[in-house]
Amino acid sequence: MACYDCPRNCGVERDKTIGFCGAKDKIVVAKIIENFAWEEPCISGDKGALAIFFAGCNLRCDFCQNYKISHECTGSLYSPEEFLQLIKGYDLSKFSSIDLITPTHFSSLLYQSLKDFKSPIPIVWNSSAYENIDIIDKISRIVDVFLPDFKYFDKNLSKKLSFAENYFDVASKAILQMRKNKKVNTFSNNVLTSGVLIRHLVLPGNVRDSFKILDFIKENVDNPYISLMGQFTPLGKYFKQRLKPIEYKIVLSYAEKLGLNDGYFQELESASETFIPKF
Ligand code: SF4
Repeated sequence: MACYDCPRNCGVERDKTIGFCGAKDKIVVAKIIENFAWEEPCISGDKGALAIFFAGCNLRCDFCQNYKISHECTGSLYSPEEFLQLIKGYDLSKFSSIDLITPTHFSSLLYQSLKDFKSPIPIVWNSSAYENIDIIDKISRIVDVFLPDFKYFDKNLSKKLSFAENYFDVASKAILQMRKNKKVNTFSNNVLTSGVLIRHLVLPGNVRDSFKILDFIKENVDNPYISLMGQFTPLGKYFKQRLKPIEYKIVLSYAEKLGLNDGYFQELESASETFIPKF
């Protein structure tokens, strides 16, 4: 069947060839990390997440920190049924959540896999937000938490870094749909059990782009819950230096000025760059 799983709309038959994301007609898992503790505390919880990193990507950002697995679609192959068995093979009581990382290009296969699965812990859709609304609606039936990374406002920036001139237009609609489908954030033992947490990574030299993203969130997203990230690592062609702490602080102050007080920021001076709850 021709693939229109994401806004690239390649229309390719994935059993025969590949589209922009590099994926064929099986789920490709690049790696699984048990008790993954690096995510925000409401995702990691006390036990850490069962973090499943998918190979390939429908955005393929130039500065991707997981470049090797996002730009090369290699790993272990699973049919939807096999993927379900893979998850069921874990003692899920030992984790705080199931974190599906970069899953968009496997949306249809993951829906098929998980549509009847009753998970005892929250399932997190950890994506770039470069996603179609009909896919968000479908995925809302199998996941509990959306964790979109809201990347760019400026279309020249998104074109240069992710070959996606329409990124903001698409991602802003996708995030509003996520919020519509998961209206309220609910927690159990400080773990987000249902809802939306919007990430934004501040890029070096692009403070104004971050302002625009925050403006949009403030003006349009109900009950915004955000994670402002500053752990940018200079990889790829375009960026040669890290984000300056002052740039991050300026964006953080702007978020505070807007009253976006619910969420996480990062303490960049600390060695671990861990997430700090609440602004
Ligand atoms: S999921 Fe992959 S093949 Fe399908 S439309 Fe998106 S980039 Fe193209």
